[in-house]
Amino acid sequence: MSRLSGSGSRRLLLAILLAMPLLFAACPKEEPPPRPRASASTGSRPASPSASIVVAAFNGERAMDHVRKQIDFGPRPPDTQQLAKTRAYITNELKSYGLAVSLDEFNATTPQGEKKMANIVAEIPGETKTLILIASHYDTKFYKDMYFVGANDPAASVGTLLEIGRVLGSLKEKPKATIRLVFFDGEEAFCEGWSDCGDGENPDNTYGSRHYVSQLQANNELTHTKAMILLDMMGYKNLQLGRDPMSTKWLQDIIWQTGRELGHTKVFVDREEGVGGDDHEPFLRAGVDSVDLIQLTSYPHWHKADDTADKVSAQSMKIVGDTILASLPKIVERVAKEPQKVTERQ
Ligand SMILES: [Zn+2]
Repeated sequence: MSRLSGSGSRRLLLAILLAMPLLFAACPKEEPPPRPRASASTGSRPASPSASIVVAAFNGERAMDHVRKQIDFGPRPPDTQQLAKTRAYITNELKSYGLAVSLDEFNATTPQGEKKMANIVAEIPGETKTLILIASHYDTKFYKDMYFVGANDPAASVGTLLEIGRVLGSLKEKPKATIRLVFFDGEEAFCEGWSDCGDGENPDNTYGSRHYVSQLQANNELTHTKAMILLDMMGYKNLQLGRDPMSTKWLQDIIWQTGRELGHTKVFVDREEGVGGDDHEPFLRAGVDSVDLIQLTSYPHWHKADDTADKVSAQSMKIVGDTILASLPKIVERVAKEPQKVTERQ
């Protein structure tokens, strides 16, 4: 496991300081001019509000607390009291970070009948309507006879996304693009296997992400949704993220390269990670460039009763959180360059 060394932290700070002008636009004319920004090259103390949040950025221990809280609720399949409690917890956390939170509620027809589901959406308003989504599912897979708490699937990605939300919520300046954090309901199949039930038209999985894509379409927001970053099973203490071949290459390249620049060469590796579909798939089908950060094939506790808190680590969540936060300015820069929708899907 690659550890974040002191020089790694400095590299992260430098990378984010250098990238800040790309992510944050200047203040409107009516407002007083921004205070002078500390130069990254002098090594002096950062003076601007956005720079100072970088110093206290992603906290892995806070993400780990979110994991434990979710596990305390018990198994959390869709349309259960346990998931309702989880939803209230996520919503309250996001609101406490100063973010506007909304619920995208819907009914889904599943092999177990009609289920009430709700995606949770938090927005960090930007200077433009260009949308960048960062997402995770928050339901756990239903098991009749197994007490399945899903520490890595999905408590770790939820904890990481919450902590990313706290950091983004503390920004004093608007990002150039609007960033939405989306917590999907109903990613997991109700039947044992992901594709045991349902068909191409009505799959028994990804209920929340498919519904959210339909909402973006209905609200005329799909055309300015330029990137979708999915976190799923990325908190394993022996973290190693291979490349999902379905993901959009330019987006994956930015994240993998940024992760390596931060020193995580053993985490962001080039081997192929066979995923075969996830919550990013409905977005890809709708033409939204998307990437999945997932460790499936080398996670020995996947969909097992021992997917418990001791399998995930604060350090792994920090590696992913730091990498996403450092990648965001580069992703914003890339999508801002493209007035037309990026249709190329390499
Ligand atoms: Zn799962």
